[in-house]
Amino acid sequence: MQRTLILLKPSSIERGLVGEILSRLEKKGLLIVGMKMIRLSDELIEEHYSHLVSKPFFPILKEAMQKTPVIAMCVKGKEAVRLVREMVGPTNGRNATPGTIRGDYSISALKNLIHASDSLATAQIEIDRFFKPEELFDYKTVMSTALYAPD
Ligand code: UDP
Repeated sequence: MQRTLILLKPSSIERGLVGEILSRLEKKGLLIVGMKMIRLSDELIEEHYSHLVSKPFFPILKEAMQKTPVIAMCVKGKEAVRLVREMVGPTNGRNATPGTIRGDYSISALKNLIHASDSLATAQIEIDRFFKPEELFDYKTVMSTALYAPD
């Protein structure tokens, strides 16, 4: 089982897409093991998007990420890191295939609704960045036996 970090960005909160996105993740069979609403500080954004701080669009990205609080989530499932990235689609909503979250609901690179960790190593770093150990939960649902074959 893998865990991955998701942020529902201000662009999804402003448009009332939180329930829709959550529903897709749940229906896929991913288990929500952590979830909270937070306001991102300048420092947290600079750390989270450290690979982008020198880009000309960084000030706009920072402003967009602080327009509303965000919802941070940790979800768990087999191959969860790759699966969630595939469900999210590529950065620019205009290039994202219909059927993906960005492909269905975003027409922008900046306002692309959702962040998801891009690798197993990044997922661990990002989960630790947004969640304290006591904010993550391990539990079973009746669904877990229905979701997986022994594969
Ligand atoms: N971004 C943008 N313009 C760009 C590239 C990125 O506004 O040309 C924003 C966009 O919101 C994206 C975020 O910066 O989600 C982080 O970029 P990254 O390359 O890490 O893409 P992601 O992993 O989110 O697809």
